[in-house]
Amino acid sequence: MQAHEFEDLNYFEACLPIEEMARRGYDTLRFGPMKPVGLVDPRTGNEPFAVVQLRAENLRFSSYNLVGFQNHLKFPEQARILRMIPGLENAEFLCFGQMHRNTYINAPRVLDADLRLRAAPNVFIAGQLSGVEGYVECIATGFLAGVALAQQVAGAGFTPPPRSTALGSLIHYTSHADPGNYQPANISFDLLAPLENPPRAIARDRRARRARQCERALADLQLWIQTLCTINSAFGATDARHG
Ligand SMILES: Cc1cc2nc3c(=O)[nH]c(=O)nc-3n(C[C@H](O)[C@H](O)[C@H](O)COP(=O)(O)OP(=O)(O)OC[C@H]3O[C@@H](n4cnc5c(N)ncnc54)[C@H](O)[C@@H]3O)c2cc1C
Repeated sequence: MQAHEFEDLNYFEACLPIEEMARRGYDTLRFGPMKPVGLVDPRTGNEPFAVVQLRAENLRFSSYNLVGFQNHLKFPEQARILRMIPGLENAEFLCFGQMHRNTYINAPRVLDADLRLRAAPNVFIAGQLSGVEGYVECIATGFLAGVALAQQVAGAGFTPPPRSTALGSLIHYTSHADPGNYQPANISFDLLAPLENPPRAIARDRRARRARQCERALADLQLWIQTLCTINSAFGATDARHG
């Protein structure tokens, strides 16, 4: 590991460096970024032991990026190890892998459920800085901060989306997670509120349980949108389509 002593190697589990995955077990990489599932080698008809996904970096297809190969290794070591992969023996490296660091606040400690700083309620914080991770999650919390701000300006209190929805569960996470060990989170079924007393057949079947959670989320989201529209019209917001 090439980390400096002052670096706190507190990795985000969904984005581990390859050397950390390799350390966790012989097969860890091929169940992660090197997963071969569904890729049959036309020459043999077999699934390979492991694969590397090369994603074109430009439209000329003159450079490729190794998907999921973030790492903390020294550059000469990266070149040595990656050239051991069949097909990459003579690869020319334009840019080596690097780890990126997320900066985020302890949202449950300093933000309220409206994504406002408790100490300065005119300041809204969303996205990565609020401790959610990923494109969609950052857009989702940015959207909610916008709605909350608009409602504050209109003089209406913010009605957060219910926790049964993905939007609501993200904002519930930023305001209710344990502040003693706050970590960035992606959206997942674990963040959604569990089903209340589901029939045993559904409780035991993960796919059915998740399908029920999605149905409930869509229904609850629809109700939340209706509530927002009612509040907005009560507070005099105009619909752009009607001027
Ligand atoms: C290498 C890498 C790969 C990733 N891959 C994925 C992926 O495959 N899928 C996924 O879902 N997520 C991925 N992520 C995570 C995702 O990019 C972030 O979670 C998300 O983009 C964060 O969005 P954000 O709007 O909160 O912040 P950012 O996207 O970081 O936007 C913040 C913006 O604020 C600007 N800014 C900063 N300071 C100032 C200032 N003082 N004044 C004005 N502007 C300022 C910055 O320039 C930037 O444009 C990846 C991240 C990295 C680094």
